[in-house]
Amino acid sequence: MDINQLVRDNVKNLKPYSSARDEYVSDGSQMIFLDANENPFENGVNRYPDPQQRNLKALLAQQRNISQGNILLGNGSDEVLDLIFRAFCEPNRDNIITLPPTYGMYKVLAEVNAVANSEVLLTSDFEPNVEGILSKADENSKLLFICSPNNPTGNAFSQEKIKSLLESFQGLVVVDEAYIDFSGKESWVSHLKQYPNLIVTQTLSKAYGMAGIRLGTCYASEEIIAILNKIKPPYNVNELTQKKAYGRVADTATVAKEVSTILEERNSMVSLLENLDFVEKVYPTDANFILALVDDAPKRYEQLLEAHVVVRNRTGQPLCKNTLRFTVGTPAENKMLKAILNQLQ
Ligand SMILES: *Cc1c(COP(=O)(O)O)cnc(C)c1O
Repeated sequence: MDINQLVRDNVKNLKPYSSARDEYVSDGSQMIFLDANENPFENGVNRYPDPQQRNLKALLAQQRNISQGNILLGNGSDEVLDLIFRAFCEPNRDNIITLPPTYGMYKVLAEVNAVANSEVLLTSDFEPNVEGILSKADENSKLLFICSPNNPTGNAFSQEKIKSLLESFQGLVVVDEAYIDFSGKESWVSHLKQYPNLIVTQTLSKAYGMAGIRLGTCYASEEIIAILNKIKPPYNVNELTQKKAYGRVADTATVAKEVSTILEERNSMVSLLENLDFVEKVYPTDANFILALVDDAPKRYEQLLEAHVVVRNRTGQPLCKNTLRFTVGTPAENKMLKAILNQLQ
């Protein structure tokens, strides 16, 4: 596959903006920086941040056994996904393929970027309809979004199905792994060399507990990353975020401990939900949330709100009629939730 063929013409011809911090890279020696019109008095954030976030990327690269050239960081995965649209999709001509019910942002970004969104529903067991996807794809289908584990259904998709899509889809396959740290399945990051059309996105917003700092990560071939780098705003990841993210990513023990507590709580919430009269089905989950089919989702949603519990009513989503999505909270929150659920009439 020739990745360059998929790039928008204006991006192909673009030279990236070269910022002051791009042109001179410090080698660690004492220098006087008079190149970026900053205020020279030190306060921790008076200098522009590293546009290539080298420290953070070095750590991520080492942990994932890839090179820094395989990584792009953004202001949340939402920015990363938007950059992918803007690099590869020609407005009013190209299209993307999404697999509802899934994360709502792909569709929003398609609309914002004037790119058509071709939808191919998941099958009734919430797996990608491989044949349906391939027959819907045409020569302008630049991106296929696969969210695995999928939001809002919770399941990770069959690896065989994702593999056959990577092998047969003639555009880029974006695997959104926002919830991968809660899943027993292996990340696709370890298969970048095998699939030149693969882009994997992850985030610090879920398992890493850092939704507030906005850090999304994107892993792909060096060729794809270089294209995305051409269009990214130079200082898209601020200094506070880079520092805070570094500390958290380095602290693997704390993250692992929190994830394991969340998984224990998830399992006890699954058994609780399964035993409630008004719950008809609890779907299998590889994420930090649970999708449950109930007798009357709007009614149960309102009852929970009255008890000061906010869940997500997904009844409007295709294949999700009368479902509620429960995020797994702390052990104390789940204890309260349990008491509330047991009392609902
Ligand atoms: C929560 C979530 C994200 C995270 O987005 P950020 O912008 O990084 O906070 C990405 N994809 C999916 C499917 C999500 O549910």
